[in-house]
Amino acid sequence: MDTTTEMKNNSKETNSSSQITDEQAMEHVKGLIEFIGEDVDREGLLKTPQRVINAMRDHFAGYKDDPRKFLERTFSEVEGYNELVVVSDIELHSHCEHHMVPFVGKAHVAYIPDGRVLGLSKIARVVDAYAKRLQVQEKLTAQIADAIQDELQPQGVAVILKCRHFCMCYRGVKKPESWTTTSKLHGLFMNNPATRMELFTLLGMGAKNG
Ligand SMILES: [Zn+2]
Repeated sequence: MDTTTEMKNNSKETNSSSQITDEQAMEHVKGLIEFIGEDVDREGLLKTPQRVINAMRDHFAGYKDDPRKFLERTFSEVEGYNELVVVSDIELHSHCEHHMVPFVGKAHVAYIPDGRVLGLSKIARVVDAYAKRLQVQEKLTAQIADAIQDELQPQGVAVILKCRHFCMCYRGVKKPESWTTTSKLHGLFMNNPATRMELFTLLGMGAKNG
């Protein structure tokens, strides 16, 4: 395995490549607090701008990761295991790019190796690195699947996300019980209905969506 370390990381102490200082960001938060009709100087809100930018740093930590880097290390000594690998129910927290409110749910990631496998924790890291950005569920699904397909080149990849969108639950059409499911399939999952069916059965997602 070659370890190319050509990644140019603009490792600034601020969030990713942001040119905005903490003080400037806090001023923006104060502006929003005023916008909703609150008093920025009342005691309970004094530390809120600082807390908000700390929280945002965490929510959007994915910008400083290169998700594909998590996929660089692979393993070949797996006794020729070339069957389905499914990591299911990976907790997912993201934010919709239209309203900047959370969408949360589960990611199910499956692949069929072609001689090489991934460390299982790396899959969750890839999910996180893409999720902790401003996102659209469809795009997030494709990014995870494409990264694994490109970097590992397995016989197939399937990524299924099932999420609740706060923007849909508590504003707009207000459908708190609704789930949005998206999937992106590559290789055997795309081309072979039996493989696809095996996956859906394993995930308990047969004809009756569960
Ligand atoms: Zn939204």
